Amino acid sequence: MLSGSPLWQKGDSERFPDAGSVPEWHYYAACAAIDIDEADRLFFPGRGQSVNAARAICLRCPVLDDCRDWALDQTDELYGVWGATSKGERRQLRRAVA
Ligand code: SF4
Repeated sequence: MLSGSPLWQKGDSERFPDAGSVPEWHYYAACAAIDIDEADRLFFPGRGQSVNAARAICLRCPVLDDCRDWALDQTDELYGVWGATSKGERRQLRRAVA
């Protein structure tokens, strides 16, 4: 359940160029409030790089549960940190509930 005011509105940001495909919770995303290059660096780290900085942002995000559930529901595995989970952690979560 979303509450409070979203950080973004449809059409506000270059991050949401196709508003029709963006879930409502995206507009509340804490990661959308940081510099886009910094977000790319933190949330899509190279092999062997830490995800801790991205995870710390996620843990303060009002839509963490929506984001993690959405990422887990994707049939094509997403790269990067979503809902405070890495790709490998999401794979483990799926196996745990299978
Ligand atoms: S949980 Fe993390 S990745 Fe998901 S919207 Fe929030 S800050 Fe972004």
